[in-house]
Amino acid sequence: MKTMRAQVLTEPYHFELKEVPVPEITDDEVLIKIKYCGICGSDWGSYTGKYADEVACIPLTTGHEFFGTIEELGKNSQGLKVGDRVAVDICKPCGTCYHCRIGEPLLCTDFKQIGIHLDGRFAEYVKVPWKNVYIVPDSVSDEKAAFVEPLTACLNASKKMQCQIGRSVVVIGAGLGIMHAQLAKLRGAAPVIVIDANADRLAMAKEICADYTINVKETDPIEEVMRLTNGVGADFVLEAVGSSKTYEQAFQMVRKGGKVEAFGICSDDDYASLAPVEFVLSEKKVGGSTAGIGYDWGDALTLLEYERVDPMPLISMIVPLEELEVALNEIRKNPKLIKVLVSPQVTERTILYKE
Ligand SMILES: [Zn+2]
Ligand SMILES: [Zn+2]
Repeated sequence: MKTMRAQVLTEPYHFELKEVPVPEITDDEVLIKIKYCGICGSDWGSYTGKYADEVACIPLTTGHEFFGTIEELGKNSQGLKVGDRVAVDICKPCGTCYHCRIGEPLLCTDFKQIGIHLDGRFAEYVKVPWKNVYIVPDSVSDEKAAFVEPLTACLNASKKMQCQIGRSVVVIGAGLGIMHAQLAKLRGAAPVIVIDANADRLAMAKEICADYTINVKETDPIEEVMRLTNGVGADFVLEAVGSSKTYEQAFQMVRKGGKVEAFGICSDDDYASLAPVEFVLSEKKVGGSTAGIGYDWGDALTLLEYERVDPMPLISMIVPLEELEVALNEIRKNPKLIKVLVSPQVTERTILYKE
C-alpha cells in the first residue's frame, strides 16, 4: 500500500506526523498532490478544541487552504488531466436538505468542508470530488493560488455586504481584513478605513489600499470613525477579528441604516451586548458570511489572474509539513506572521515578511 506523511490531530493541542495510506479515490474523485496548504485561524480553533463540531471529527488531518496538482483521475472526471494545477472548492453541502434546496448551501444542515470536518491537506495528498476542482490560470503563481480559499471567503462576504460605489467601509482587523479592504476599494468604497492594534499591519494596509488607518492603542476607534465620516458613522463595518468587544464597536461606529458584516469567528460562548433599539429606531443591519462556495472559486481565480487583488504581502512564511505545530503556535506570538503556508515539498522554511 502506498503511504504518505500527514499531520493528524489526535487530540486538542496535539498533532502527530504519521505515515498513513494515500487516500483511494472513487470514480467521482481526483487525487491531488499538495504543494501548499495555508494555516487558517480556524485551524487554531480545531487545534485548541474551540469548535465542538470539529473536535467531534478527531482524529483528523486539518488544512483547507490549498494548492496542488492532479496526481490521479477518477473515471468520471471531465475536463481535467494529470498534472493540472488546481484549487478546490472545499464545500460539500448535502444537496437535499431544506437550506440546500432553497439555495442556501452554506447553511446546509449536514454541511461538511474538506479539512475542517473531513480529512484535508496538511499531508502529501488529498482526495476531492472532481466537480469541486478549478484549474488555476498559468499566470497565477503557486503561492497566490494557495490563497484562493481565504480569498473566496472574503469575496463571499464582499458580495453579501453589497457595498455601493462611494460609500465608506471600515474593516476591523488587519490580517485577512487587508484583503477585505482591497475588495472594498475594488468595489469603489470611499473612504476605506482599517482598524487594528498592530502598527506594522496598519502600515501595510495603508500601503496597499486603506485611505485611513486607526491604531486602537493610540486612538479611540469609534470617535475616529465618527470624525472621518463627518459625525455620520460608517456605511459599512466589516468585523474581521472575532471578539465580543470589536463586534460591539462595529455596531457603535456604523451609521443609522448602515450594515455590519460579520466575518470574524468568536468562540461559541462569546456574547456581545447590543441595544435592540438600534435595530428599530436606527435601522442598523447585520449580515454574516460563513465561507466561499461554488463560483466564488472561479471569481477569486479571475481576480488573481487579472491582478485586481494582491495576496502576496499577506503571505509571511513557508514552512515544511514537519513544522506545522510549531508554526501554528508562532502565529499567535509573532505579529509579523499573517498567512503561513505549509508545504510537504520543502525541507526548509522561507521567510517572506520584512524584518
Ligand atoms: Zn480558512
Ligand atoms: Zn444540505
